[in-house]
Amino acid sequence: MSLDNSDIRLQFPTLLQEVNHRTLVYLDSAATSQKPNRVIERTDAFYRNQNAAVHRGVHHLSAKATEMMEDVRDQVKTFLNAANREEIVFTHGTTHAINLVANSFGQMAMGLGDEVIITEMEHHANIVPWQLLEKSIGIKVVVWRVESDGTLNLDTLRDLLSDKTKLLALTHISNVLGTVNPVKEIIELAQINGTKTLIDGAQAVMHQRVDVQALGCDFYVFSGHKIYGPTGIGVMYGRKELLDMMPPWEGGGAMIEEVSLTEETTFNSAPWRFEAGSPNVAGVIGLGEAISFVEEIGFDFIQRYESNLMASAIQRLSQVPDLQIYGSLNKSGVLAFNLGDLHPYDVGSFLDRYGVAIRTGHHCAMPLMKRYRVPGMCRASFAIYNNKEDIKSLCEGLERVHALLL
Ligand code: PLP
Repeated sequence: MSLDNSDIRLQFPTLLQEVNHRTLVYLDSAATSQKPNRVIERTDAFYRNQNAAVHRGVHHLSAKATEMMEDVRDQVKTFLNAANREEIVFTHGTTHAINLVANSFGQMAMGLGDEVIITEMEHHANIVPWQLLEKSIGIKVVVWRVESDGTLNLDTLRDLLSDKTKLLALTHISNVLGTVNPVKEIIELAQINGTKTLIDGAQAVMHQRVDVQALGCDFYVFSGHKIYGPTGIGVMYGRKELLDMMPPWEGGGAMIEEVSLTEETTFNSAPWRFEAGSPNVAGVIGLGEAISFVEEIGFDFIQRYESNLMASAIQRLSQVPDLQIYGSLNKSGVLAFNLGDLHPYDVGSFLDRYGVAIRTGHHCAMPLMKRYRVPGMCRASFAIYNNKEDIKSLCEGLERVHALLL
């Protein structure tokens, strides 16, 4: 099969525009991916013809919207190979999903002195909710440090796990280094210790097939907008036995069974118990379309195409003078670097003048910046619509910045 993505690229209208008189080179998909026409059109069609509040109406539009939303729950179940549709909770995104686990599972299963292990490469979304729990109920956040090549050493984890460790929460793929963590082996170690696991899949679901049953994780979370879908929608997969026991954490409509001012209010079953208020129906439907888009391309092609692109990027970037790439070169989707001692902000601003969009700064991973002793990094990230021309533009831009500023 030829590794040609030109038909795919044409489906993304944002990529057809010019920025600073050059065709946009978008290398910031790890922050948010662009959306194919079919996702935009599906969301538009929902608002034009099908818009209604779900779950509460008897009228035609409401019943139809409810059915469409629940169909996407089935679709996500199949996408993640979950055992049950009731294991799929719709959230606003990864951050919301992790906060759900911290507040609901945390409240149920953890108390004073219990430990949560996180890694040094986590996004703030998988650090701060646990720190808040540390303050509110006295758990302890234990940090699994990163090796100098940006990988995790399993022996270090063996030393950290104890009978106090109630949860291990880590990212599947680092949003800075692109490291693909060996989550299956890590989950096995946690299981032997009787520790539950949460995998932050925000940077993984776009690049590789995820099978939550094969992984054996207890929770798996991701955001729609990082997999070609809309913003404001995400997923929390949770094993049914756990979800059935977990208390609600946000109160409001839809999550209740019966509300009383004189008796105790009772709650809906999972997953609806965790979906308080009017859900983002258009977001759910757009997410369903994004998943169909990815499934139709297929992860075989996506992985072959993207690993080829990453190899070219690493090879070409290593010819740029004074450029340092961070972490192991075995990466997926994301590549962080600095150019000499230039501030990443300056590099990013110059590249923007050449129509190249990268991300600069701490990437919501301040502890990792501290680990590498840098104030920030430049980050280029790739999606299925990028091509070798994009890499050429990035590297030529960097060479110009080098010639101008160094
Ligand atoms: N986790 C990782 C690894 C991420 O890369 C991100 C976003 O960049 C998040 C969590 C937070 O995602 P969101 O802002 O969509 O909730």
